[in-house]
Amino acid sequence: MPQAKSYAAQSSTSPLAPFNIERRALRSDDVAIEIDYCGVCHSDIHAAENDWGNSVYPVVPGHEIIGHITAIGSSVSRFKVGDVVGVGCMVDSCKDCAACDDGLEQYCLNGFVGTYNGTDKIDGTITYGGYSDSIVVHERFVLNVPKALNVATAAPLLCAGITTYSPLKHFGVKAGHKVGVLGMGGLGHMGVKFAKAMGAEVTIFTRSESKVAEAKKQGADHVVISTDAEQMAAVAGHFDFLLDTIPVQHDLNPYLNCLTYDGVHILVGLLEPVEPAVHAGNLIMKRRVLAGSLIGGIPETQEVLDFCAEHNISCDVEMLDMQNINAAYERMKKGDVKYRFVIDMASLKNAA
Ligand code: NDP
Ligand code: ZN
Ligand code: ZN
Repeated sequence: MPQAKSYAAQSSTSPLAPFNIERRALRSDDVAIEIDYCGVCHSDIHAAENDWGNSVYPVVPGHEIIGHITAIGSSVSRFKVGDVVGVGCMVDSCKDCAACDDGLEQYCLNGFVGTYNGTDKIDGTITYGGYSDSIVVHERFVLNVPKALNVATAAPLLCAGITTYSPLKHFGVKAGHKVGVLGMGGLGHMGVKFAKAMGAEVTIFTRSESKVAEAKKQGADHVVISTDAEQMAAVAGHFDFLLDTIPVQHDLNPYLNCLTYDGVHILVGLLEPVEPAVHAGNLIMKRRVLAGSLIGGIPETQEVLDFCAEHNISCDVEMLDMQNINAAYERMKKGDVKYRFVIDMASLKNAA
């Protein structure tokens, strides 16, 4: 079996450290990819630290992968050696249910296989993600990276990009709508760019005064400091949509109060129980909707890459050496990244 260098967490409390793994021998419909860049998502931290209680160690995180193909299986038709490609949050699904047929593999009725911490459907092994020099993936879950995109700044589109684009589109954001984006991190800053590209008037809700000027530079029309009760009261009943990327439990009620009637609050950041409880009156009295959304399917992920190439949209990234990943996690926990770390995998490949 081919060996791969990687970085892994061995337990919920151990820092990430070098770890050698095996990648599977190519199946007929697989492609082998040498990884050039991998974005750092807050989900990587949740998985490394077992925040969701389902981590299987060692965890090799990373699901914003850009690389180039080094080998293809005998029946692969969509790719050739040398193609620049991407892999996002999924590496397999049943490929045979209503959701998969609809291109919504993330809602596969039989469960999708996550790029890391997933269980391979054929051999039962636990999947390892993109903090690695290579990966082997079924061709259906491999994306074409348009030539117009910068390969380093495109990596976060594979999770932060699709996770914000998909719900904005699905719930019907259109020109003239008022959209609020909660949290200005990796997902949030992409949410601003997509909502603007869809013609919305966009407001960033942030705890960080220091991000106000930046948010405007990103294209946000307005900024609300979410910890300032007066500023929150000033936008009561104002928004058609709120896209909530906050990664920890938080009180939704003050935000629901900012929606107009029929407004939709879309959760993407939180996977735990909502705490404190949502006051049902905040929904009922204005026919508001509390919704959630998970990444996006493979066809729509390709659509995001193509959309960004066409509209000249890119992620704002800080490049990172693999060896500095633990410090990067600490900065992300403080909300201190502009706005996505991307690992230059040359740093791992060149390490002794
Ligand atoms: P980041 O760490 O990049 O950004 C999160 C932002 O949320 C921060 O920058 C900060 O913004 C705000 N924030 C952080 N802590 C708090 C807090 N205690 N209270 C209020 N706001 C806070 O994370 P990502 O954008 O990578 O991910 C966000 C969440 O989305 C994660 O939980 C991740 O697991 C989840 N996720 C969900 C997906 C899905 O399919 N639904 C896919 C990908 C990720 P500010 O400083 O502006 O307040
Ligand atoms: Zn992610
Ligand atoms: Zn399926």
